Amino acid sequence: RNSSNTMALAPSTANKKEVVCIFGTGDFGRALGQKLIQSGYRVVFGSRSTKLSSLIPAGAEVLSHAEAAQRAAIIIVAVQRQHYSFLLPLAEALQGKVLVDISNNLKIDQYPESNAQHLAQLLPAAKVVKAFNTVSAWALQSGTLDASRQVFVCGDDMEAKRLVMDLVRALGLTPLDQGSLLAAREIENYPLQLFPSWRFPILLSLGLTIFFFLYCLALDVIYPYVYQKKDLSFLIAVSIPNEVCPVLALMLLGLVYVPGVLAAILQLWRGTKYRRFPGWLDRWMLCRKQLGLVALAFASVHVLYTLVTPIRSYVKWRASSQAVSQALSNTTQPLNTTNAWLSDSYLALGILGFFLFVLLGITSLPSVSNSVNWREFRFVQSKLGYLTLVLCTAHTMVYGGKWFLVPSSYKWYLPPIYMLSLIIPCAVLVIKFVLIFPCLDKPLTQIRQGWERNPRYSE
Ligand code: NAP
Repeated sequence: RNSSNTMALAPSTANKKEVVCIFGTGDFGRALGQKLIQSGYRVVFGSRSTKLSSLIPAGAEVLSHAEAAQRAAIIIVAVQRQHYSFLLPLAEALQGKVLVDISNNLKIDQYPESNAQHLAQLLPAAKVVKAFNTVSAWALQSGTLDASRQVFVCGDDMEAKRLVMDLVRALGLTPLDQGSLLAAREIENYPLQLFPSWRFPILLSLGLTIFFFLYCLALDVIYPYVYQKKDLSFLIAVSIPNEVCPVLALMLLGLVYVPGVLAAILQLWRGTKYRRFPGWLDRWMLCRKQLGLVALAFASVHVLYTLVTPIRSYVKWRASSQAVSQALSNTTQPLNTTNAWLSDSYLALGILGFFLFVLLGITSLPSVSNSVNWREFRFVQSKLGYLTLVLCTAHTMVYGGKWFLVPSSYKWYLPPIYMLSLIIPCAVLVIKFVLIFPCLDKPLTQIRQGWERNPRYSE
């Protein structure tokens, strides 16, 4: 056989006969052991009890910690951090070994130092590498690793890290080098976070939903009940949600573009881009995508509610009673073409707006956004985004149409909610329109390229 071929095949074939030691025969140790055996490794467990149980993956050996450690260069410590002291008597056997820390905590920043750093302090002669903590035992066992093929790896010893990354690759997973052991803290906190960038958009939309729902309830159900003794409580099921959803969709879409215009105003005001934005603005910028997706969800629900309109019994009743009353009075109402125009353009704007909105949502998916370059991404998210905002705002304005100036639409002196929903998008669009004037756009572009009105370091 030709030697270059053997060289090319060497890493994968040579690795597969390697022995890997796992301390701890718990859920994670067994799941990882099973996966390693399937990938062609030999697995030796180090355990407090060397009895073979039926749970231990077939083909694995179970030895005492000290014996098992001698058999392998890589030792995976699948034991909770609070028991790490059991490793102290093994310090000599673990000298120079690669120790893989896979542990997680119950709380973010539970200990002053990360578990991996703690392990490295306990056993300074071993080479500690952090890996696998974001993979669950369940996913390893059931093979449902599609969404979490990435394994974060960090460690101070390059060679040890490389060995662990090879092991990760051999299991069909993708290692992501996160640098030195200092990164372990972040990697350990990672599985404990609860949708950090979704929290604000979801809480905000929840708050706004409750507020607008009660607002509509007051105007559409309580008001007619109080003044006309009419029971319209059935509106709670479809009509009111179908008022709240579009309002939230438009408001949240507007809120996606607010931080951008605020940042532009701030940069123009300060005459530099080298001063940090306030924390709230930074955080707001970072959750724009999530705000947009929540807005898209509301818009989609609005579309569904609208599609069922013709089969609603209330709508059918209204249409038939109109027909009957025309028949009884022997009159026919001619088609009002202005109204027909308004209603069709309102629908057309809504359809186009929703289509672009969906397109925006699709381009925010990682698999799509990774395949476009920076200019294309900016084009879609900014130009197309503003076009979506314009169409959806126009959709709402045409819907409101002639009602804006009619006093009877202000029950209890309160404006209908679609008027409220226009405030943010209109403000954003007006400011954006002003910002594209050359007298503002030119200095802003210069500032974003690094120009400063009052340079800090004059040449
Ligand atoms: P587990 O089921 O409780 O297993 C822990 C194992 O540690 C036990 O089976 C035991 O093995 C050993 N052990 C317990 N007390 C010990 C002591 N005082 N001295 C020495 N060994 C002791 O826990 P696990 O779910 O496998 O998790 C183990 C580690 O993996 C944890 O740090 C966890 O954060 C991490 N992890 C777990 C998952 C998961 O999905 N489960 C995912 C990522 C990371 P022997 O009886 O064989 O000695």
